[in-house]
Amino acid sequence: MRANHSTRVLVVEDDPDIASALALELDHGGYEARIERDGPGALLSASEWPAELVVLDLGLPSIDGIEVCRRLRRHSSIPILVLTARDTVEDRVRGLDAGADDYLTKPFSLDELMARVRSTLRRARLREEGERLEYAGLLLDARARTVDYQGRSIELTPREFDLLEFLMRHPGQAMSRDSILAGVWEHDFLGGSNVIDVYIRYLRRKLHEHGAPPLIQTVRAVGYAFRDSE
Ligand code: CA
Repeated sequence: MRANHSTRVLVVEDDPDIASALALELDHGGYEARIERDGPGALLSASEWPAELVVLDLGLPSIDGIEVCRRLRRHSSIPILVLTARDTVEDRVRGLDAGADDYLTKPFSLDELMARVRSTLRRARLREEGERLEYAGLLLDARARTVDYQGRSIELTPREFDLLEFLMRHPGQAMSRDSILAGVWEHDFLGGSNVIDVYIRYLRRKLHEHGAPPLIQTVRAVGYAFRDSE
């Protein structure tokens, strides 16, 4: 299976032979690869050349790979596949702690690398899809924290957003007030569970104002359910 040609992969590797072998293999696999030889170059490329994956060698001159990983993570959730020369538990933990998604120990075969590239991208795409909840024309993007109904943006307060997200993550299920409180208000909660009813009312009104069908149903003696009315 060939990847889409626009799938960009940033390769950060100071060894020129390994770097060009990786770039060639990625190109052959249908990816668009760019090579950076050090940390500063990697950070610059990551900001001006949006890629879908970073293949990052840990042993780099000047800024090491762990630090590059950490700095990338400050602004980006881009999947990072780390290459490490030492297969020690400590190295793996350091890489994963710094925000890497997966790692591959040198020496590796190019087939192995490509399999790992595909699986890392696949997992990242699934994760991204999990961040977008859609139901009956209502679209919630959990990462961007936006909601729209049929393309019309709906402005919600942070609490309204959290409540809607919680309900949309459990479509069709009757959620008790207790579980809503626990899921949305957590510990910083004062007052009775009727605060939920108040927020439900705000949410319903905003959804209604934007033309959405009534999607938040009252479940008598229990709480609320996110579903189409029958
Ligand atoms: Ca190296």
